[in-house]
Amino acid sequence: MRPLTEQEIRTAFVNCTKGESKRLSVPRDLAERPWDDLDFLGWRDPQAPHRAYLATELDGRPVALALRCPSPASWQTRLSMCSICVTTHSGGVSLMVAAKAGKAGQQGNSVGAYICSDLACPLYVRGKKEAGVGARPHESLTLEEKIQRTVANLAAFIAKVTS
Ligand SMILES: [Zn+2]
Repeated sequence: MRPLTEQEIRTAFVNCTKGESKRLSVPRDLAERPWDDLDFLGWRDPQAPHRAYLATELDGRPVALALRCPSPASWQTRLSMCSICVTTHSGGVSLMVAAKAGKAGQQGNSVGAYICSDLACPLYVRGKKEAGVGARPHESLTLEEKIQRTVANLAAFIAKVTS
C-alpha cells in the first residue's frame, strides 16, 4: 500500500472521537515500515497493551480503526485462527473489539474479530513472518489470491464497524 503519514492516520479514524485520535499513539517509525508488503498497518499501543490500531486504504481513502483486546488471558492456550489473514497460531490471536462508528458506537455497540495479536497479517500472508510450525494449513491458493482474501476480510470487518 501507499505509505501513510501520521496526519493521514490520525484523521482516518472512524470509530473514536477527534480528541482520542489526536492523543492515541501512532508509531514513530512510519517511514521505515515495509509498506510495499502491507495491506494495512497494525500496531499495539506500547503504553496500553489492551489497545490496538489499524490503518489501511479503502477505495483510495485512508481508514483507521481503534480496537480493544479485552481479555489477553483467554486466547493464550488455544490454537486460534485469524479471521483476517486465516493464519493459525497457538497463542498469537486475540479477540479485538471495535466500537461501531457514529451513534451506534456511542450507544455501546461494537464488533469483534479474532486477529493476529501483533496485527502483522500482511507479513504472515507473504511468508515474511513465521507463525510457528504447522501454523498454516496447506492451501492451493496463490499468494495473490491470499492477499486478495486478506484485503476482502479486512474490508468486510471495516464495513461492519461503519455500517
Ligand atoms: Zn492475521
